[in-house]
Amino acid sequence: QEAGVPPPENGGKAFEFRGGGLEFRDVHYNYAQASVLQGTSLVVPAGAKVAIVGPSGSGKSTLLRLLYRFADPQMGQVLIDGQDVKTLDPNFRKYLGIVPQDCALFNDTVRFNICYGRPEASDAEVERAASLAQIHEHIASMPEGYDTPVGERGMKLSGGERQRIGIARCLLANPSVVLLDEATSALDVRTERALSEAMEKLMRGRTALIVAHRRATVERCDLVAFLEDGAVREQGPHQELLQQSPRYRRFWEGAGTN
Ligand code: ADP
Ligand code: MG
Repeated sequence: QEAGVPPPENGGKAFEFRGGGLEFRDVHYNYAQASVLQGTSLVVPAGAKVAIVGPSGSGKSTLLRLLYRFADPQMGQVLIDGQDVKTLDPNFRKYLGIVPQDCALFNDTVRFNICYGRPEASDAEVERAASLAQIHEHIASMPEGYDTPVGERGMKLSGGERQRIGIARCLLANPSVVLLDEATSALDVRTERALSEAMEKLMRGRTALIVAHRRATVERCDLVAFLEDGAVREQGPHQELLQQSPRYRRFWEGAGTN
């Protein structure tokens, strides 16, 4: 178990985002049992869409967690807008939208789940976010598998649909930077397309760092960072890496166990 991270070393000054990028500078991170990141460096320029790709367990999700300060690295720096996140007022998180891999839902309607944390959002804003994320048709449904009230039928949501609820919530929050940890579940063609389109809406006009499992997603990004054995081993546009890097090619030709 990880202890809570210490408070910021900033003397209580609110963070004002100036539209810069993200950076990991020689980051080392170990969980109690596992050394995960061993000198990871990565620059995400302002406005760029960067995909993180790599084998299962290579530390992709951990990178996103460090940006949000769910944990701090033991060595190295994580920067937002040129500033070490450890020195920032906790309000920096309002500039980051995070869509987790497995979007845990509240025992309430899809609409409630989209609006959570945004009580001031108007119906029109909520519906627009739901439409862009292509989850609008289910907005009044209750997710199944929770404590669905007697007499109401819950709706079974696929991993892609749950992720679209997370995307809608993020669109409503309208952050400058998005961090998305793509769901690994197999998707049918229709859900796959809906998720791709929702992600495109989410990335547009924003800096985006996406843990990517699907080709459709990496093809949509400007740059790919290939993470393996604790560090970024290859970096560049997807098509270039496919041509130039045998291990990157092998990765995509593999069994898809990413
Ligand atoms: P990826 O997203 O690339 O699959 P993760 O960043 O989730 O990889 O995890 C990297 C490694 O760290 C894995 O071996 C995983 O088992 C381990 N790990 C992840 N989260 C924790 C945790 N909370 N406690 C201990 N080990 C963890
Ligand atoms: Mg992961």
